[in-house]
Amino acid sequence: MKLIDLHNHTNFSYDGISGINSLVENAIRNGVSILGITDHEFSIGDRIDEYIDAVNYAKEQYKGKITLLLGLEIGTRPYPEAFNPEITKNLDFCLFESLDDSRAMDFNKFLDWRKNFHCPQGLAHTDIFKLSERYNTDILSILKKENIFWEINFSGNYNYYFDLISNREKQDAVKKSGIALSVGSDTHWVGDFDKKRLVQTNELVRSLKNPLALGIRDYGIGR
Ligand SMILES: [Zn+2]
Repeated sequence: MKLIDLHNHTNFSYDGISGINSLVENAIRNGVSILGITDHEFSIGDRIDEYIDAVNYAKEQYKGKITLLLGLEIGTRPYPEAFNPEITKNLDFCLFESLDDSRAMDFNKFLDWRKNFHCPQGLAHTDIFKLSERYNTDILSILKKENIFWEINFSGNYNYYFDLISNREKQDAVKKSGIALSVGSDTHWVGDFDKKRLVQTNELVRSLKNPLALGIRDYGIGR
């Protein structure tokens, strides 16, 4: 089975401990086929070009061993004034984090704002069911319509993960919506990497048969 993991931090982030090479080598050891690196826009700051170059260099370095994707995690609590969305022309994708947080920007404002971004977009560790309740609307179908994917974050820090893996009703709603899904470990240090959950979460996403984020195909169904 192919494993994807589209949410990872290196020491370009203030809370990341591992360097790019140790992160990538850990992913290869654990059987990850497609790895997304998504450091925080606010801690990269003016080192953004250095970050882009470093990930692109690693892409070449590990070619044939793993597919690396260049991402960025963008804060929404509150609106990141200093961030210039033009930079996203150079990215494979970006993740908006924690839109379900009480301090996060308004969801409708987010839908407008995100149109300034020039790469495919997903939501990191966001409880969509909680958001649907807050706005009294079906956020799953809005995201599907807007072509925004949803990350299943298995770091253990977000309850919606435990909720989703045990709640058939919610799984059915996700399946029915047809929203694209991704898997994220949210690794900040390779020592914390949880292979078992990585496999379980990839299996869950596979079992729902939703499309994968970023048009990723060849997911090994039936292998
Ligand atoms: Zn993160």
